[in-house]
Amino acid sequence: MTEEKVIRKKIRATGLMAQYMKEYFLELDHCARTGEKKVAWCTSVGPAELLHSLGFVVHYPENHGAMLGTSRIAADLIPYANTLGFSPDICSYLTSDIGSYVTNNTPLTKAYGIEKIPKPDVLVFDTNQCRDVQDWMSWYARELKIPIMGIHAPKYPSEITEIHVESMAKQTEELVKPLEEISGNKFDIDKLREVIKLSRECTELWGKVLKTASASPSPITFFDGTIHMGPAVVLRGTPQAVDYYKVLLTELEERIANGEGALEEEKHRLYWEGMPIWGRLRAHSELFANLKACVLASTYCNSWIFSSFDEKDPFRSMAKAYAEIFIVRSEEYKEKYIKEMIDLYKIDGIIYHDAKTCPANSNCRYGMHLRLEKETGIPSLILNGDLNDMRLVSDEQTKTNIEAFIEQLEEN
Ligand code: SF4
Repeated sequence: MTEEKVIRKKIRATGLMAQYMKEYFLELDHCARTGEKKVAWCTSVGPAELLHSLGFVVHYPENHGAMLGTSRIAADLIPYANTLGFSPDICSYLTSDIGSYVTNNTPLTKAYGIEKIPKPDVLVFDTNQCRDVQDWMSWYARELKIPIMGIHAPKYPSEITEIHVESMAKQTEELVKPLEEISGNKFDIDKLREVIKLSRECTELWGKVLKTASASPSPITFFDGTIHMGPAVVLRGTPQAVDYYKVLLTELEERIANGEGALEEEKHRLYWEGMPIWGRLRAHSELFANLKACVLASTYCNSWIFSSFDEKDPFRSMAKAYAEIFIVRSEEYKEKYIKEMIDLYKIDGIIYHDAKTCPANSNCRYGMHLRLEKETGIPSLILNGDLNDMRLVSDEQTKTNIEAFIEQLEEN
């Protein structure tokens, strides 16, 4: 996409993350093949802590979806799901993941030598993020004839009330009995407390990692964040995730102490709102870096900060943490949140990604970008594209729009 040489600097801790991720996937594959532990598939902001406490190893189809996106094979797989009746307009994680399953084509093979997606014993969803996750899991439940269960979250609240927390806590507690039967393990509240404590530690450290971006220059970019959030997504609730974020945080704090930024030069500080464009992470990272624009923070990476986890009140705190995520909140809440981010990270401009197949996480469809521009004076740019379906991304258009936006920032 670009010939210039400015790049974002490598993070040393990446090797440790790769090792932990490899161990995680190999264990998952081993358990699916041998039955040593039961395998649960869970939505990315579903009740993973409960599953870990019952001895399941947990696979996250959305994480697999993101791997299909970064490996740029998603667009080839989506048509297979379309032939099964899934519209090209719905979630391209869903369509590429199902396409991957039916063609037995997974990036896990190249990355870890894993032949096929590790088969589940149970499917668990939380509708907090969108309806697609339930339909996605339901297809697998019918196809594989395995049990499915889930939690139905409140939609678009400004405030999370006692009623919301009670409802979600109750629904989570109701999963215990059927999950005990599938796992063959007795539920132990102390184990759940232990896992929630680890998830809380992970989340706190991940939050601190992301907040290092408030330094000038920022030691981390959004593009780094999309890769380094892996352990917060798939390993939260385990000691490895806590260990990893301690190492990463130390490295970023060192960068701050040395006045070292993630980019060689940071002239503009940008915020990314919406899904990443997985198949173009590298190209976009280089494009922005060459324009001396550091995309340094995002709502997306913040989505795995669950501040409410509290091992003293396991079910209710889990319910609150998963009810209050940004994606499901009212426009009013979202505007307030983004304004806080603009201040915290000293943002000069916002990039909204309007992802064609993910309306749930495209926040510029009801005028919010214009309202925020008016209130804050911070300009914004909408990029039309998609998370996984690269047929919906115009590289030329994206480049032209980003360059024009940076020019506008320079004039300002
Ligand atoms: S939030 Fe968007 S990307 Fe995530 S599962 Fe739902 S539709 Fe897909």
